Amino acid sequence: MAFALNLYPVTYIARYNPETTKWDEEWFQVDSVTYDELMAMGEDERKAVLDKRNQMGIPTVSYTSQYAYGCFEGMKGFPTKDGGVAIFRPEENGKRFNNSMKGLYCPAFPVEQFVAASVEFVKRNAALGYVPKYNADWEKTGYADADSIYMRPFMNSEGAIGVGCSRQPYVVICATTVSAYFKKGLDGAVITNRIRATPNGTGYIKCASNYVISAIAKHEAEVKGFVECVYLDAVEHKYFQEGSSCNVFFVLKDGTLVTPELGDTILPGITRKSVIALAKECGMNVEERKVSLAEVQKNAVEFFVTGTAAGISPMTSLTDLDGKKVDFKDGTQEGTVAYKLQRLLKGRQYGLLEDPNNWNTVVIPGKN
Ligand SMILES: *Cc1c(COP(=O)(O)O)cnc(C)c1O
Repeated sequence: MAFALNLYPVTYIARYNPETTKWDEEWFQVDSVTYDELMAMGEDERKAVLDKRNQMGIPTVSYTSQYAYGCFEGMKGFPTKDGGVAIFRPEENGKRFNNSMKGLYCPAFPVEQFVAASVEFVKRNAALGYVPKYNADWEKTGYADADSIYMRPFMNSEGAIGVGCSRQPYVVICATTVSAYFKKGLDGAVITNRIRATPNGTGYIKCASNYVISAIAKHEAEVKGFVECVYLDAVEHKYFQEGSSCNVFFVLKDGTLVTPELGDTILPGITRKSVIALAKECGMNVEERKVSLAEVQKNAVEFFVTGTAAGISPMTSLTDLDGKKVDFKDGTQEGTVAYKLQRLLKGRQYGLLEDPNNWNTVVIPGKN
């Protein structure tokens, strides 16, 4: 299980008020229990936990629960080497969240409110002890097993049953602890014949409905023994789009780093944007353009996927629909581009390295 549902106790909720056109904010504190713990409880105890959660007023039947009409963000808070806590580029998540809301014809959620609520969210949970502590041992493995706070801001519609757009949405921020993103024991990526996003569709926003197809395609890949599925474009089925919920990068024989250009079928990843910036800082040649399967099979030496949850995850191989498999360099090894970029990105996130671009929003200042 990649994400155990063990919510942090403090949850933020903002309700849109169409009369004032403002978002009314509230904070809730609920018991942090896992699903298994909840099920193991006696009836009275379980009811008490659920009653508290229900006070948040999220409706059972809504555009979100019925039609996957909703959007979300994935964002991380990192314990830093100086003993503090920082959120990585929250204003970027705020902008993308706003764009998703716009794409769904929802009232805008101000970026400043998003960032302020995220900062306050981490502070309130930290005050209750829900904050990972920096561990210098993480440095030895390049933060491969390091802890962080995984935040999930999301939108849920008001109670509704007919197909429609939300007029009074809720914005919730909650968080969970995270462990490994990819299943252990599986290996390599496989091309899926499924279509994630079509032109004029919703692939460019982080909306809930997009992930139904990803759940199906990733399941199909895992059943075949692969750790990840990769989508090609909807029209020609020739050019790379993304992984199940990550962007894709390839290193070509001449050292060029290529990634599919953004458009209305690709989610603009913040890790993607950061990786491009870091690679350019290192003097690498970076190209955002169409990348075909044929080109990669012939000319790529490394393949990795990027995302907030996945970080920079190297893929060992790629298998196409005809079963043709190409192997790539092991990107967890020193000397590869994936290794180098991963160390740089994590080093900045965990405050081991300087943060020259001011990507970290400090929530709790460090002491040393
Ligand atoms: C969230 C997501 C990504 C990665 O975005 P980050 O901002 O890097 O976390 C990439 N592709 C899809 C489809 C996603 O949902």
